[in-house]
Amino acid sequence: MVIVGSGFSGIAMAARLAQQGITDVVILERADDLGGTWRDNRYPGCACDVPSHLYSLSFAPKPDWSRDFATAQEIWDYLRDCARRFGLLDRIVLGADVVDARWAGDHWSVAAADGREWTAAALVLAVGGLHVTKRPDIPGLGSFAGPILHTADWPADDGLTGARVAIIGTGASAVQLVPALAARVEALTVFQRSASWIVPRHDRSWSPQRQRRYARMPWTARLARWATYARLEVRVLGFGRWDRARQVAEARSLAHLAAAVPDPTVREALTPRYALGCKRVLLSDDYWPTFAEPHVTLVTEPIQAVEPTGIRTRDGVLHQVGAIVLATGFDPAGSYSRMTIVGLGERTLSEAWTRGRATHLGIAVAGFPELYLLLGPNTALGHNSVLLQIETAIDHVLDALRRADRSGPHVVTQAAQARFGRWVRRRTRQTVWASGCDSWYLDEQGRNVTLWPASTVRYRLQARRSRDRDYRRA
Ligand code: NAP
Repeated sequence: MVIVGSGFSGIAMAARLAQQGITDVVILERADDLGGTWRDNRYPGCACDVPSHLYSLSFAPKPDWSRDFATAQEIWDYLRDCARRFGLLDRIVLGADVVDARWAGDHWSVAAADGREWTAAALVLAVGGLHVTKRPDIPGLGSFAGPILHTADWPADDGLTGARVAIIGTGASAVQLVPALAARVEALTVFQRSASWIVPRHDRSWSPQRQRRYARMPWTARLARWATYARLEVRVLGFGRWDRARQVAEARSLAHLAAAVPDPTVREALTPRYALGCKRVLLSDDYWPTFAEPHVTLVTEPIQAVEPTGIRTRDGVLHQVGAIVLATGFDPAGSYSRMTIVGLGERTLSEAWTRGRATHLGIAVAGFPELYLLLGPNTALGHNSVLLQIETAIDHVLDALRRADRSGPHVVTQAAQARFGRWVRRRTRQTVWASGCDSWYLDEQGRNVTLWPASTVRYRLQARRSRDRDYRRA
């Protein structure tokens, strides 16, 4: 098998195969180290907003997380440790930038940019959704005289200490970055297009006693994981039609805002204008309080252009800064479109997806035999850990591989894919994501191509088996 990508999905897939004694596996990684998003995102303050208990693989528990919400570095270390523990290091080919993969009748032929090639009976795209960075289309951005940094492309020495810095964007990355950067810059100007819903994070460190207890009695860690899972899973109700759940969360968030920001004008500007949950709900204790600091300014006036010395807003004001940070997110479609994937009838994945990223359960695509996606379209979550989804999809792939061993390569049927698409559309209409806000969850046509519109239990029940009736011989 060829796995493209060595983030959580790729490492977990290879680890599960290793557990089953399947070692004829190669993981192709474009970068010079494994780790996916946790290798790439090195911005100050970067951490996970999903509790550590759940942001780890169910079959590779870690009793000694340092805190409830682990830092990017600690998660990256965990992932590298998993690769070591499951003997995967010598199966990872670093610097292999996959640009082309073709179905050749009974196998995949995969090529990297430098001309190296691999063949495999099955191809798993574990490329993640959030690594092709989105640079805003702001006039004059290229003319800026100082450095422009993106949160997902952070240099080891950013040179920002004591500088006057602008941050564009107020999403999940920005709420972590803003307090961390505010602590060491001369002035910080945050350009907000939409205010974010934020709830308190209440992060706490894990005491040595707690870590020892989890190590000595793993069942206590499993119990804590289950309790965390249940606490997060009920939040799925808030994304559906249960307005009451959402109103409670909104009231909690606004109370947090009122306590954090004494200035009524700033508070008003930081108040979100859409239903909670329509965009990702953010967790932070220190983002809103940062705006009470004298050297931190919130700008809500739209950006007109970037000039060599700063950012000019529509009201004519030039905000002079020495550096600009883009916390403007990612292009989820870019993960796939940067590769040419050719399936049956010489059709490319881009051609198959001209009318949206259609899949079966976010895992298989009609016309592409023995091709599997992990964390594919419509499998991400707004309420719980995506690792749960990845593990379910891996079970599906393992099931499909057993069928291929028994009776040759298969491909998902058009009917199964269409049925899944109809179900996603129907379900999405009943969720808060269809309530009118603009988010990266939706594509250019306003279709939900990102999120799983139900509970993780439902995904597990629906997707963990690869049902014969949904597949046909290729
Ligand atoms: P994001 O959520 O897409 O936020 C991008 C921000 O940039 C938004 O505030 C957006 O404003 C703003 N923006 C984009 N283009 C702009 C423009 N031309 N002018 C002004 N503002 C502009 O990106 P992100 O914060 O990097 O997060 C992306 C995803 O990564 C998250 O949703 C989450 O899934 C993941 N993430 C997770 C964690 C974690 O702790 N697990 C941490 C960071 C990121 P609008 O809202 O108005 O579009």
